[in-house]
Amino acid sequence: MSEKMHRVVIIGSGFGGLWATRGLASCPVQVTLIDRANHHLFQPLLYQVATVGLSAPDISAPLRHILRHQRNVEVHLGNVTSIDVIGKSITTGDDAQVSYDTLILATGATHVYFGNDAWHRMRLGSRPLLMHSTFVSAFFTPSNALSWR
Ligand SMILES: Cc1cc2nc3c(=O)[nH]c(=O)nc-3n(C[C@H](O)[C@H](O)[C@H](O)COP(=O)(O)OP(=O)(O)OC[C@H]3O[C@@H](n4cnc5c(N)ncnc54)[C@H](O)[C@@H]3O)c2cc1C
Repeated sequence: MSEKMHRVVIIGSGFGGLWATRGLASCPVQVTLIDRANHHLFQPLLYQVATVGLSAPDISAPLRHILRHQRNVEVHLGNVTSIDVIGKSITTGDDAQVSYDTLILATGATHVYFGNDAWHRMRLGSRPLLMHSTFVSAFFTPSNALSWR
């Protein structure tokens, strides 16, 4: 009977999760990469998308495409909602459970307002979807373009 492969579950496919996945490419482990998005996003170029210098597909690519040559990885789409540390399994939003021997958490960070949560409503944020629409409407809507001539 063959020995069971060591199972590594990686949550998050940003720089951290994706590079951890690639780093395990030649290791004798079975990797499961889980993210709530199906793509990797190159965040440092978000500003260029926000300011209409690049389009969104220029800074993101499907995970399955990026990892298509890596044989020991499976990519799962799912929002991880809980981790059972004792039972060594994670649960996703659709109640799917994935067991692991080793867990790598690479879920990134979010904004902190140092106790001033009301500021949340006033910010454009570093994830600039709102910045994008603000720029587009400021520079490219006909009414603004005319008034700035
Ligand atoms: C506009 C901008 C410019 C930047 N410029 C630079 C720069 O010039 N140089 C530099 O070094 N750094 C820069 N950074 C910072 C850098 O991009 C981040 O530090 C880096 O992307 C963080 O990587 P990460 O893997 O920790 O997290 P992330 O890239 O945020 O990835 C986290 C992943 O986890 C997933 N996830 C989170 N929660 C769950 C869950 N519950 N279930 C499933 N999936 C989940 C998310 O979908 C995401 O894909 C910049 C960031 C921004 C926003």
